[in-house]
This record gives sequence, structure tokens and C-alpha cells, in this order.
Amino acid sequence: MENTAIRFACNGCGVCCKGRLIPLTFNESREWLKRGHDVAVILEAFDESLWPSEPEKFSHSAKRAAQIDSGNTKINVIAIFAANALTQCPNLDDQDRCGIYEERPLVCSIYPAEISPFITLDPANKVCPPEVWEAGEIIVSDRVVDPAVRIKIAQSRDADRLDAHAKVAICESMDMTVAAWKENALAVYLPDRQKLMAALDHYDSGIKRAAHTSWSVRIEDHELREKVRSSGVQVDTSESSSYIFHKL
Ligand code: SF4
Ligand code: SF4
Repeated sequence: MENTAIRFACNGCGVCCKGRLIPLTFNESREWLKRGHDVAVILEAFDESLWPSEPEKFSHSAKRAAQIDSGNTKINVIAIFAANALTQCPNLDDQDRCGIYEERPLVCSIYPAEISPFITLDPANKVCPPEVWEAGEIIVSDRVVDPAVRIKIAQSRDADRLDAHAKVAICESMDMTVAAWKENALAVYLPDRQKLMAALDHYDSGIKRAAHTSWSVRIEDHELREKVRSSGVQVDTSESSSYIFHKL
């Protein structure tokens, strides 16, 4: 990652807490549900063909994924559990302050730094107002400057890896087994909160992944769909209403 030095001073505007899905670790998802808030599930699938000349990128993503059966082959699936803040985060008060500041999710305390080692921080891609980049401490130079943020980024990456199989198992137990093709689209599920809590409890009680669950992938782009299909992956052609298909 190469960055020029970037200064930043958060002004507490709360814009980053509105209109988005906020990725959560498995444990954070449980806490979020217990607080009475909804958790969305985003599913993306891929195989090595996606990054033929970027093995490091494939390796990074594969560590965040569970390998599953699809058609007559295997693919990697990443399940992202995310707080539903599509209107605004339920913890945001009427002064635009975080009501759970000390216990906020890791990604909230990392923002606006990047978690992916393959993304360079670019203020133009952040929702923060322009003036916050003109003052404050340098937060990024050739790497993230604040050691506390670096630790949180490492914790977030570790959780992505450690939680990968558990999250996929939860999805299978709730019949959320259609994913979108990574970097082409997202399949976004909005499961019932009580049912998702029950699925997490069920998993915690020791029930692991069902054998022989076959996943499929939804791809609208004809050329890509046929390429993926020809490699043996099961392609879903129905326009199911059980998830939102969001093209990128
Ligand atoms: S938990 Fe707090 S910091 Fe995170 S999105 Fe909600 S209000 Fe914002
Ligand atoms: S949008 Fe940026 S400046 Fe505003 S609260 Fe979030 S991190 Fe701070």
C-alpha cells in the first residue's frame, strides 16, 4: 500500500453512520441482534479465475472465505454480516453521536482507514466532508500511523478469517445459498432478526455445517455467466425475491 501523507480530523458529523451496511464480526453480529437491531447478510463467490495475475489478492480473499460445493466443482464464498444502517445506524442519537461509542464495531473505530491491504486510502472515496482532510494529525503515510488503529485493522482481518466458516454455516442453515460473483454484484439478504438469532444460537450449541449443501451463483452478465457455468459452477437463473441483487 502506498499513500502520500494524509491528515484527518473527524468533525463528528455522523455521515458515515447513515445510508450504509456496516460489516460486523460474528461476535459483533450477535451483540447487534441482542440490542434489537437488524443484521444483513451479503454473499459473494469467487474462484481463482477471478485474479489470474494477482495470486496475492486471491490468497487474501480465499482466507476470508469458506470453500463450498457448487455444481461439480468447488468455489469460495465470503459471507459478510453487516449492521443495517441503510437509513441510519440505530445507535446514532439526535445529535449525530454514537450511543455505543465505547463498544462500537471495529470497522467504526477504523474508519476512514482501509481494512483491505489492496486499497489505498483516498479521501475522494470517503463520505467525510472535505474540510476534515485539511487539519489534524497525519493518519496515513506509507502505512496507518496510529498503532491502535493498526491493531484494530489486524483484529478485523483476523475475525474475517476466523469467522468465515461459521458465517457460511449460518447461511446454509437459513437457506441463503445463492451468492453473487465477487466484484460483479452483491447478493444482499435481510433475514428476520429472530430467525437469525436462533440460527446463531443453534450454531453456538455445536451444530456445524451440513454436508452436501450445494451453492449457486447468480450472474446477470451473459459472457461472465457462461464462463463461470462452463467451469462447472451451478448458476442460478431465477430472479428470487429472497435477496436483493445489487450490480456493481
Ligand atoms: S455504531 Fe456508532 S459509530 Fe458505528 S455506525 Fe452506529 S452510530 Fe456510527
Ligand atoms: S463522516 Fe468522517 S468526519 Fe463525519 S463522523 Fe464519520 S469519520 Fe467523522
